[in-house]
Amino acid sequence: MNSDNTEFDLIRRYFSDLSGAQSGDGVTLGIGDDAALLQARAGKQLVVCSDTLVSGRHFPAHTRAFDIGWKALAVNLSDLAAMGAEPRWFLLNLTVPTFDAAWLKEFAKGLKVLANQYGIALVGGDTSRGPLSICITAMGEVDRGKALTRSGARVGDLICVTGTLGDAAYALTEGENSQCIEMLNRPRPRLEAGRYLTEKASAAIDISDGLISDLGHILARSAGCQKSSVFSAEINFEQIPLSPALRTHSDKEKVIAWALSGGDDYELCFT
Ligand code: ADP
Ligand code: MG
Repeated sequence: MNSDNTEFDLIRRYFSDLSGAQSGDGVTLGIGDDAALLQARAGKQLVVCSDTLVSGRHFPAHTRAFDIGWKALAVNLSDLAAMGAEPRWFLLNLTVPTFDAAWLKEFAKGLKVLANQYGIALVGGDTSRGPLSICITAMGEVDRGKALTRSGARVGDLICVTGTLGDAAYALTEGENSQCIEMLNRPRPRLEAGRYLTEKASAAIDISDGLISDLGHILARSAGCQKSSVFSAEINFEQIPLSPALRTHSDKEKVIAWALSGGDDYELCFT
């Protein structure tokens, strides 16, 4: 035992109340052992995804700790949403440059708001020292055979999105509209929509890189299942849902770029 170990013990303590909320919900053994023991429910499939946020690359270095915690979990929940899954458990791999109690406390708070809202329990992780980066692995459940995938789109399908597009990109570039900054820092994962869509949609994806790019993934994955394997989409820009801030923005070219290829929307695109 050295001082480093004690610090890491403390770090773990900041996150321990993230594991309690849903204990009994399939957590046979949580934080504290070499690995967690989890129990998925009968008739369900386990849905697993992972996303890393690196400071300066996935969020501006000056982003508040609370927002970093929020976003790190939100982007993973968004992947679960796109599969139509119900969130259950997550792992947190945290790399921090220094042991900063105030920062960790705020970071944990940001995680906790979303974790409580969606009933996902922290069951383990790893802690190390280095340039700030957060890797979360999230696990959820979906009824066997009911997961939404990228590959089910067919010719003639309607292309839809949840929410509005382009706000996060707008906030990142012009940064003065507080509502759009909230969309950038605190994306709201579309979990309810995703679960609803398991019975309705032929394909789905969450929009992290921008509509054009992510719709492209649906096209590519679905094309393989088509006879012709040539597949394209038609987007009527006038029908893309925009927030008031973007609808009234004077530079139409920029608005189009933000909405179609800005990214960081964390809305669902589905067919
Ligand atoms: P090991 O030496 O086996 O990696 P650790 O000391 O890293 O063990 O972790 C001990 C326990 O604390 C494990 O159950 C691990 O899952 C948990 N843990 C470590 N870091 C974190 C973290 N950032 N968030 C949640 N749990 C953590
Ligand atoms: Mg470890």
